[in-house]
Parts: sequence; C-alpha cells; structure tokens
Amino acid sequence: MKPLLQNLAEMTAHRDHLMLEVSVLSTLVQQGRDVRVRALEIFAHRGRTWVRPRSWTEGCARVVSSPLEACEDPSAVLLTSMPELHQCIGQEGKSTERSAPGAHILWLPVWLGERAHACLEISQPRRFSRHQRDVITGVFLVYQNYQSLLDYSERDALTGLLNRKTFDEQFARQSFKRATTEAASNWLAVIDIDHFKRVNDRFGHLYGDEVLILVANQLRSQFRTQDRIFRFGGEEFVVLLRSATLEQARSALERLRQGIAAHPFPQIGHITVSIGFAAAHGGAPVEILGRADQALYYAKENGRDRVCFHGDLVDSGALGRKIEHDEVELF
Ligand code: GH3
Ligand code: MG
Ligand code: MG
Repeated sequence: MKPLLQNLAEMTAHRDHLMLEVSVLSTLVQQGRDVRVRALEIFAHRGRTWVRPRSWTEGCARVVSSPLEACEDPSAVLLTSMPELHQCIGQEGKSTERSAPGAHILWLPVWLGERAHACLEISQPRRFSRHQRDVITGVFLVYQNYQSLLDYSERDALTGLLNRKTFDEQFARQSFKRATTEAASNWLAVIDIDHFKRVNDRFGHLYGDEVLILVANQLRSQFRTQDRIFRFGGEEFVVLLRSATLEQARSALERLRQGIAAHPFPQIGHITVSIGFAAAHGGAPVEILGRADQALYYAKENGRDRVCFHGDLVDSGALGRKIEHDEVELF
C-alpha cells in the first residue's frame, strides 16, 4: 500500500477529469481490506435523473455519448431507485450511506456548482471505522476541490462556457479517436455574432459583454448535454454536435439562429449570428475547423444571419468558384 501523501500527489498531477477520477478510486480502494470502489455517472434524460456505473474500455472511460443510449444501457437505473442517494442529492448533501449485514456502502456525490454529475461509491462487508471514514472524506475533499479547480481552468470567465484551450485539447483527442466510425455523425459549427463591433461602439463594452452572456445562455439551452459548447474568442463560439444526422445538426443550428434573431436583447434590441459548419471527420482538427470557418466566411459574405454547411458549398461549387475568384484577384 502506497503512503497516502504519495497517492494525493499522484492524484493532483493529472490534468484530465477522468484520469483524476481513476486516481482517486485507486487511492480509495487502498483504504481497507475488501474495499470496493466505483464511479457512477449521474445524468438527466427526459426530465428524469439516471445513474450508471462508469465503464472503462481500453483504459479510457466511456464518455456519456448520448443520454438516450445511456438509458438503453441495462446498467442505468433511475436515481429514485437508490433512495439514500436520491435524498442526499435532493438536499445537496455531501455523503450518505446504506448499511445492511455484510454490505456497507458509502456514496459521495461529486458536485460541480449546483449539479452532482457523478458519485463515488465505496463499499465493504463490514462497517466503516471512524478512521476509514475520516481518510475517505479527506481524500474525497482534495479530489473534489481539485476537480473544481480543473473545471475552472477549462472555462471562460465571462460566459462559463468551455474555453479555447479546452477546445484545442478535447477536439484534437476526439477526432483522432473517432476518425473511422462514429465521426460521420459529429459536426463542428462556428457561430459568430454579426456586426458585434457596432454593439460595443453604440452601447459600450459592458452591454457587449451582456450580449455575450445571453448568447452563451441560448447556446446552452439549445444544445444537448452530450454536445460541447466553447467560447472560441471574442464574439465567436464553437459547438461540437455529437451523434446527430446532418439534418438534425442543420435544424438545431437553424433553430439557434432563429432563436437569437427573435430574442429581444435588453436596450440593444435584435442581433443576428452567422453560422458555418462541417463534418467533424475527414481530416486533422485544424482542417475541420478550417472548413467550418470557410462556411462561416461564406455566410458572412452572403448576407449574414444564415447557416451554411461546408458540404453544400462544395457540392454546389460555391466554394470552388470563390477560390478561383480569389486566385484571379491574387495573381
Ligand atoms: P462581423 O459581422 O463581420 O463578424 O462583424 P463584427 O463587428 O462582429 O466583427 P469584428 O471582428 O470586426 O469585431 C468583433 C468585435 O468583438 C471587436 C471587439 O471589440 C469585440 N469583442 C471581442 N471580445 C469581446 C468581449 O469580451 N467583450 C466585448 N464587449 N466585446 C468584445
Ligand atoms: Mg462578428
Ligand atoms: Mg468574429
């Protein structure tokens, strides 16, 4: 058994949420003979909260690819079927227990802001001793604080969306891993506020910031939990839509565009966004981003307030013509 401090040092060396989780589980499993540990994912689907054990394949955790898929997973159960945990989460509690002869379980929900998105489960055949409980709680607190710190470093301070650095790290990893199979159903969209400079010029930077926060909220409410939303910089956002058909992606983005155009922004009135998107496969991340950017550029050049799909522009020859035209101008 490794000394506890060494375990903690190793735990906090990770810069990845899932690796950190693996590390805390391996620390906790050493806190007694016959101790068993697992991480449970907690997720919402159709207004109900579900729980399922995190599964590990090839040393990597399965990311909740789609809540629907997750609910069809026979290992998923409704949170209400675990009354102690259900009550604890309802009361924003720190821990809860179930004791039955030969089976004692300790649950520690992992809170990020107001949401418990996971829970660590520690069980053993006999009661937890006072010492065990103190060590487990201490290790867990270090883990939870560190998770929050990690989460904070991944987000943009103004909008709370994931930041550019996180995009660079996560997108590179995703697209390489899924390049052969699932990538066909992932889409990358770049969303840019139209004439945003005018908002700042006319109403001031603080109002501009308010618009960015409200647009970020619209993005959060329009997309599903498995999609990833980033503030890419300034007034530009990137959404990675996962497990969607082309038509689903197109209509989700169109809904977003219409929702923003129809939204009355306090003092400012109406604003619009232009959106370009591309399939998130068939090239290096930088190429995929380049395609979505080209489609965005086309939307900007052709009236703004519209959604353009890179594939359509290629098929119709619109991008090809544009490149030829540029070449004529350049050379
Ligand atoms: P276009 O329709 O072509 O996208 O025009 P635009 O005015 O939106 O684009 P441009 O790139 O010319 O201007 C973007 C502006 O966004 C410039 C900058 O002042 C503003 N901006 C960037 N980051 C922030 C921010 O954090 N807060 C505020 N209020 N403004 C920002
Ligand atoms: Mg803009
Ligand atoms: Mg811009």
